[in-house]
Amino acid sequence: MLAPYACDPALSRGRRHPQSAAPTRTEFQRDRDRIVHSSAFRRLVYKTQVFLNHEGDLFRTRMTHSLEVAQLGRSMARTLGLNEDLVEAIALAHDLGHTPFGHAGQDALHDCMRDWGGFEHNLQSLRVVDRLEQRYPQYDGLNLCFETREGILKHCSAANARALEAQEPLYQDAQGGVGARFLLRQQPSLEAQLCNLADEIAYNAHDIDDGVRSGLITLEQVQEVPLFARFCDEALHEQPQLGAVENRKRWLYEAIRRMLSAQVYDVIAATRAGIAAHHVHDVAGVRAAAPLVVFSAAMVEEARVLKAFLLRALYRHPNVVEKMDAARVVVSELFALYVDAPEQMAAPGVALDRSTDAGVQRRVADYVAGMTDRFALREHERLTGRRLLV
Ligand code: MG
Repeated sequence: MLAPYACDPALSRGRRHPQSAAPTRTEFQRDRDRIVHSSAFRRLVYKTQVFLNHEGDLFRTRMTHSLEVAQLGRSMARTLGLNEDLVEAIALAHDLGHTPFGHAGQDALHDCMRDWGGFEHNLQSLRVVDRLEQRYPQYDGLNLCFETREGILKHCSAANARALEAQEPLYQDAQGGVGARFLLRQQPSLEAQLCNLADEIAYNAHDIDDGVRSGLITLEQVQEVPLFARFCDEALHEQPQLGAVENRKRWLYEAIRRMLSAQVYDVIAATRAGIAAHHVHDVAGVRAAAPLVVFSAAMVEEARVLKAFLLRALYRHPNVVEKMDAARVVVSELFALYVDAPEQMAAPGVALDRSTDAGVQRRVADYVAGMTDRFALREHERLTGRRLLV
């Protein structure tokens, strides 16, 4: 049962290229299916989340991260009466534009693109579903619904929003495209807002898990974070056997599980309270209100402390930084090499934007961003004779 403020697929603002309805699926189910079948989605398996993809088989990749975001998102959506299919579609697509090697790759590519409009993974995710996937006879891209596309575009500068608007179709309701809300300072749907928070909840939890299992941080260190320490203590109090040395992994998992649940329940309660306080009764009300899918004020602060800890102890750990520095070299050298010799961009199955407004730098950025970690390393070795990061 959909709440009145949920996105109803029957009332979708439509697709860039109008299409008749599918016989058995709603418009948002159809979007989710298109995303799952895309090449960019399959490549997420071999893209770094935090740990380099080839470092271990048990760490998260962009793919497993996206699946966890979809799971958390759907579970919260069902409780709140929001559209689960739309949440799933946005969650599965939210990281499609990520470069190889995680944020190091994106930073390097952004530096390379400084004079040509920059590189931003969010905008790139939209570019993947709008242009770079080439699977349909009549158009480039996956031709997704407005609601899915607006959810993918989590943030956007005013300049980029104006550039996007110039290319958006004229929707029947004359309300503007996916860039409009950044110019009008409006909110996206609750489903889109939910995916943002599900993303944050997922990575905070799984980065503790991967961080401790990798040995880069210890369980004791994470207990410096009050939010996590609380659930460690609670779990130990209820299940004293977790204190045994051989049960440390179970203790870690139990504390993470409790923290995840507490954050999910916190979001649900805060969101319900916000919807009631703002008297929101429909999607138009959602767009005009303040952000409604939020943590409580107390959880915002606790999550901030946790994120600061992960940044300091894990993302800036010398072992991680050393590898990410090498990854930056791979990405920026590949960029320079392809700009000099675009004919080297010849991997089959990698789509290039052939539109006239895409200069060589943008086409190279698309090509490099689409790479998996291991393909980037192989290409770098082929073109430079140097083998980095293996
Ligand atoms: Mg993410």
